[in-house]
Amino acid sequence: MAASLVFKLHDRGPEVVREVLLERGWEEYDEGQQEEEDWNLYWRGSTFCNSEYLKLLPWQRLNHHPKTAGITRKDFLARNLRRMRASLGSALYDFSPTAFILPNDYTRFLAEYNKLRPTRGSPVYWICKPVDLSRGRGIFIFEDIRDLVYDCSVIVQRYISNPLLISGYKFDLRIYVCVKSFHPLTVYIHQEGLVRFATEKYNLSSLHNLYSHLTNTSINKSGPYYKTKKERVGQGCKWTMSKFRHFLYSQDIDELQLWQRINNIVTLTLLTIAPTVPSCPNCVELFGFDILIDGKFKPWLLEVNYSPALTLDCQADITVKKGLISDLIDLMNYSSTDSLRERAYHKQRYKQPCCHADKPAHVSVPVLSKRKESKFRKKTSKVYTSQTQALPLLKNSHQSEKINQRRAFVTDYHRHLPLVDLNKIYAARGKVSNTTGTKNHTNKTLNLILGPDIRRNVSSVTRQTCPAPPPWLTTNRSLHISEVTNRDVSETELELSEETDVSSLVPDIPHSGLGFRRSAVSWKLPNIYSGSHRPVSFPLEGATAANGQGFPPLRVGDFIRTFPFNTATLKASQHKLDVKTVIQELQKLTAEMASGQSDKTKRRREEKEVKKDTEAEEDFDSLFWGPRDPPLLSQCFNTT
Ligand code: ADP
Repeated sequence: MAASLVFKLHDRGPEVVREVLLERGWEEYDEGQQEEEDWNLYWRGSTFCNSEYLKLLPWQRLNHHPKTAGITRKDFLARNLRRMRASLGSALYDFSPTAFILPNDYTRFLAEYNKLRPTRGSPVYWICKPVDLSRGRGIFIFEDIRDLVYDCSVIVQRYISNPLLISGYKFDLRIYVCVKSFHPLTVYIHQEGLVRFATEKYNLSSLHNLYSHLTNTSINKSGPYYKTKKERVGQGCKWTMSKFRHFLYSQDIDELQLWQRINNIVTLTLLTIAPTVPSCPNCVELFGFDILIDGKFKPWLLEVNYSPALTLDCQADITVKKGLISDLIDLMNYSSTDSLRERAYHKQRYKQPCCHADKPAHVSVPVLSKRKESKFRKKTSKVYTSQTQALPLLKNSHQSEKINQRRAFVTDYHRHLPLVDLNKIYAARGKVSNTTGTKNHTNKTLNLILGPDIRRNVSSVTRQTCPAPPPWLTTNRSLHISEVTNRDVSETELELSEETDVSSLVPDIPHSGLGFRRSAVSWKLPNIYSGSHRPVSFPLEGATAANGQGFPPLRVGDFIRTFPFNTATLKASQHKLDVKTVIQELQKLTAEMASGQSDKTKRRREEKEVKKDTEAEEDFDSLFWGPRDPPLLSQCFNTT
């Protein structure tokens, strides 16, 4: 039976997501008509509740991973990058302007300010930004410390005062990055980003003029020159990345190194949180990386947006964002089975554990049927004990209509999903069904995934899962639950306007290594090319397709895989992320790019050596993100 995939949008937005999904034949979730779990994608601008991750069913996806605030809040990002600089060297992590979190770092800032204060020569500028605001709100630039006034937590960052200009206008790049999985780390960057311009010419003698110094659309949209046709830039304040590439080409600028540096920035930034983000295979994350290029062509990371704005303000937005969302949906690997939702998954006894990714593969529990069954039993006993008795209690006809719909659903449900006795299943597997044990285990698992405080929030979640603890739960020496100190307040709803760029409000994540242990098994978001679970629509062709070996595909639409980028990084990310190896590989690649003298054959030989140690028989190629028609990475080096 043909069925549509169903999407659920929080707070009615963003419109472009609705538009794209409807065009692709999806249906919008209707609370009145559909059951609670009868959806495939839940999209939110703000964070999901912990319980939403825990309730996630095999056919469902969320557009956020838990606990990514470590890079999406300005102060957490600054702190995490500082930590990486301290442990891995400032040369590697030199891509973000020096930053201080005030009021805490005030003394350190003062010392730096005094050190850099010019006695003569060029002045030094600073930019002050509230840590949890976005869209340019509350930002100001100053040279003299007496102008630094703040009444909330802020970061003060070295102002990049020599930005690359196009016809005198400042701009930055909005790069869309999709982390398809944190375990193993799998990253795609979209070919089409946005270039966002300031709408008045850059001028250091007017620091208060935000239209000259900030590139936020929400600021510039209301500027006096937004609609004016500006020299070279044109009307409005945005270009597509394609147009920018064309511009670079017309200026005879060698872009390769620039793109490679931006790739590195993305990877190195994600490495700061990747080891501590819980495994959640049915989630993807779309980040917006803001990159400023200076006059010497050095790219700087300004910030990472948690929920990049998806409003369509101009033609550039339409071109970029519609394609972006469509490609993102392709990356989510929906299959025709997903569209059948509970019916298909139940019939197939499909037991994907979603967030409980480390559960042993042999364990198969009909999670849904039992849970739904008890839910419906409760409902039926409450509402239908006596039809004549229940209905008069209803407040209005809408409610009674709802009840009738539910009744029809229950009948239908019973037809499709027979009762499952969990005790029998446990007995058949030689395990004792012990409610307390299951509950304890569930709590432990929740702690691992979301931190110990989760118990407060999910006490009502009674998933009947996990009959046996995974081996690492009983043996893992590094697992001290108290280490997981996240104070997760993601239950707090942040209501957002449609065009919000959100810095996530989830509080800090611990900086030290955690006891999360994942395996390659946790990579459970159905593989695009695996067996019968083929995607509904997947416009890949020829060389761009996956190699059929379970490697992530090179590209999905305009998303180019940037991590893992070779066999060594693939291997380093399969189990516990080996950050050191990843860094070494990045450095190697960068050095080869920089010298431009690498011998292709030598590289191939080295790759083959690594391959000998792996089970991978296939070539593991990567495309070079940046150019419009990206070549293979291995083709980017001169052969001398
Ligand atoms: P928001 O989340 O409010 O957009 P950003 O950090 O992105 O905050 O800063 C807003 C804008 O300010 C950027 O798009 C950029 O134009 C400018 N900006 C921010 N930080 C710097 C900096 N260190 N140097 C130069 N310009 C900056």
